Amino acid sequence: MITFNVPPYTGKEMEYIRECVENQKICGDGPYTKKCNQWIEDKTGTAKCLLTTSCTHATEMAALLTGVKEGDEVIMPSYTFVSTADAFVLRGATPVFVDIRPDTMNIDENLIEAAITDRTRAIVPMHYAGVSCEMGKIMELAGKYHLAVVEDAAQGIMSTYKGKALGTFGEYGCFSFHETKNFSMGEGGALLIRDEENIEDAEIIREKGTNRSKFYRGQIDKYTWINYGSSYLPSDMNAAYLYAQLELAEEITAARMACWDRYYENLYPLAQAGKIGLPTVPEGCVHNAHMFYIKTTDIEERTALIDYLKERGVHSVFHYIPLHTAPAGLKYGRFHGEDRFTTRESERLLRLPMFYRLTPEQVDEISAHVKGFYGR
Ligand SMILES: *Cc1c(COP(=O)(O)O)cnc(C)c1O
Repeated sequence: MITFNVPPYTGKEMEYIRECVENQKICGDGPYTKKCNQWIEDKTGTAKCLLTTSCTHATEMAALLTGVKEGDEVIMPSYTFVSTADAFVLRGATPVFVDIRPDTMNIDENLIEAAITDRTRAIVPMHYAGVSCEMGKIMELAGKYHLAVVEDAAQGIMSTYKGKALGTFGEYGCFSFHETKNFSMGEGGALLIRDEENIEDAEIIREKGTNRSKFYRGQIDKYTWINYGSSYLPSDMNAAYLYAQLELAEEITAARMACWDRYYENLYPLAQAGKIGLPTVPEGCVHNAHMFYIKTTDIEERTALIDYLKERGVHSVFHYIPLHTAPAGLKYGRFHGEDRFTTRESERLLRLPMFYRLTPEQVDEISAHVKGFYGR
């Protein structure tokens, strides 16, 4: 059986976790959290990175920090994970869903402007499969209408748009280190803060509304309750697990990329023959091989292919029931404009196994089965 995902593991994780335990440093903001924050800051160039308990929580922090409130509108794609919307719905805001581009499955930057009203406060692009949205156009619109930009870069670590790291364009960027992502800590994430002046507020919200972060740096001699907040910091043991992978980030990414390229090459003839669709990486975008997907003709063909692969020991998955069609989406959000691609393309998309240590032989085996299905 070739499973869909295997959590990344490099070999150093246990040693680092053991160190946390032996040094009695297991709570949040310990040495490994600091190392991870520093690594992400160096890698992406963001002003500040704060490790969080999840990407969902990083997005919640961003929603609090942007001051989005009841009655406000936030523009985002409907083809995304629920957390993108949840964070803003928790603040009483309305997600306004905009259609996606069929080539990248990202929000269609050319449809955003028409969805802006005098209640719009933020745009939340999600970089699907680690392939960037058109950030040039999105940042231009945000500037023109004075809107905040929060990037759901859950899948986007190590990816760039015109040479700049995903998660560093908007005021806030959110990474995920869930076990299905390129680098993991079980459950975890990070908030990237672009502007120096927002760092202190973020630290306070993350530490239960206190100025404890300042206290630990020795900048004040006692800490107290300053603002509303919550607890968004992960245990240092989780950070230790993650750090082992960040140290090997280039190697992990290269290995995933080799699989991605091999799938693409193997399946290219099927795309040429008009049987399937393959992912597009627009010019200016460098991706991180977060996922490899194909597109079938329609949902019936996809279901048949999933079953066919399963019978041959390959686990493939699809995801994202468009949010605007889900019970909570109907209740809390609205779709602006026409759903030309969101539903149709989401029903065609199928993800093939992709994880660190997937072997070239396995990629060939999976590709052969996909070809077998279309040759049957
Ligand atoms: C994985 C993912 C999330 C959620 O990440 P968690 O760390 O599990 O909270 C949010 N948005 C997108 C697009 C994701 O892929």
